Amino acid sequence: MNCEILCVGTELLLGDIVNTNAAFLSRQLAALGIGVYHQSVVGDNPGRLREEIRRLLARTDLLILTGGLGPTGDDLTKETAAEALGLPLVQNEEALERMTRYFARTGCPMPENNLKQAMVIEGAAVFQNDNGTAPGMAVEKDGKIVMLLPGPPREMTAMFLKDGLPYLERFSRQTIRSHVIHVFGQGESATELQLKHLMESENPTLSPYAKTGEVQLRLTARGQNEAECEALMAPVLRQVEEILGDKIYGVDVGTLEQAAVSLLREKGLTVAVAESCTGGTVTKRLTDIPGASQVLGYGAVTYSWQAKEKLLGVRHETLQAHGAVSAETALQMARGIRALAGSDIGVSTTGEAGPESGEDKPVGCVFVGVSTRAGEQVIPLSLGRGGRDDRDLIRYTAASNAIHQIILAARRL
Ligand code: ATP
Ligand code: MG
Repeated sequence: MNCEILCVGTELLLGDIVNTNAAFLSRQLAALGIGVYHQSVVGDNPGRLREEIRRLLARTDLLILTGGLGPTGDDLTKETAAEALGLPLVQNEEALERMTRYFARTGCPMPENNLKQAMVIEGAAVFQNDNGTAPGMAVEKDGKIVMLLPGPPREMTAMFLKDGLPYLERFSRQTIRSHVIHVFGQGESATELQLKHLMESENPTLSPYAKTGEVQLRLTARGQNEAECEALMAPVLRQVEEILGDKIYGVDVGTLEQAAVSLLREKGLTVAVAESCTGGTVTKRLTDIPGASQVLGYGAVTYSWQAKEKLLGVRHETLQAHGAVSAETALQMARGIRALAGSDIGVSTTGEAGPESGEDKPVGCVFVGVSTRAGEQVIPLSLGRGGRDDRDLIRYTAASNAIHQIILAARRL
């Protein structure tokens, strides 16, 4: 099979940015044994884009495009590719749902023009975007395959490794396998710095991508068969585990909440949650996971002093002396909910989610309390970034930290 890469974007033609997407894709495709015959660039001009797509489709089996999948008027790649293939666009429910959730989490209203990003070419395999909003896709028609990927390199590389490569595997003589290493508690750049030497490897490749508040590393190997792929990955996985230690919360475990529920079930442990600033988010995320009822019986939202005192037994003097947003209160909340539920682990959140700070604590100041029979502790966090719309991010990240603490506590029991 032969292949061509077409990158869309006037910035590329002006020389404002370097075409790193083409370089990345060419390297990946070469390793798969798929020959790349040409790379081209075209600006955000529908006429010239249409002409280029038609011209390339006449001579290549596989055409991979990057860029122009966004919501704005000059993002026309998908519409133009659909027209060139003679296929209509249809709405993709999952993409729409993900986009709605994405905007709900950032706290910004979803602009109307974003809806067009949830449209995909009819019959396409859809690649959901874990790092942005525009999905990618691949479609086969009359013996030709067209793959569309977003322009931003972070989105493009993560999507290609996760969905693009497996899609292309059937056209290659190579087998591809990958593992996802989940990291919590440090950012993407710190992680990259520590793993730089491993990220230079060609087979297996190791690529990081950031999710809200966490980092995922995708380890991908190519080989003759599955066993060869696993053998190539094993030593690298071991090295990553040695370097990052307990910053890794799991390998191939899905989300933080999935990892927490699986671990609790595996160890036959139960957890109870007392939430203030997260307003039920921790409980919601845990109960999103099927089987959560086996490990979680109590999730209490105790927003007022009175609720903290009455339900959890937080002492009035503690609230008066230290405030609701304090290590002392967080600890008593965790202890209180554990006693009330009779669970193995009690976890709590209390903090200032903003935008205005109450008491005397800054916005983003959050305490996560943990209580188990093995001991108690409070984790102080400062999650504010100074943005006016930080509230949702602070609450979401505080909940992530609480769920992460459940994992750490369960490991110790
Ligand atoms: P968005 O939703 O961000 O608009 P998009 O899929 O429409 O995404 P573009 O608008 O074409 O993508 O590009 C967005 C940004 O991604 C560009 O400004 C540029 O910084 C980067 N980018 C796009 N194409 C490339 C490329 N080929 N190589 C490197 N960077 C690129
Ligand atoms: Mg764009």
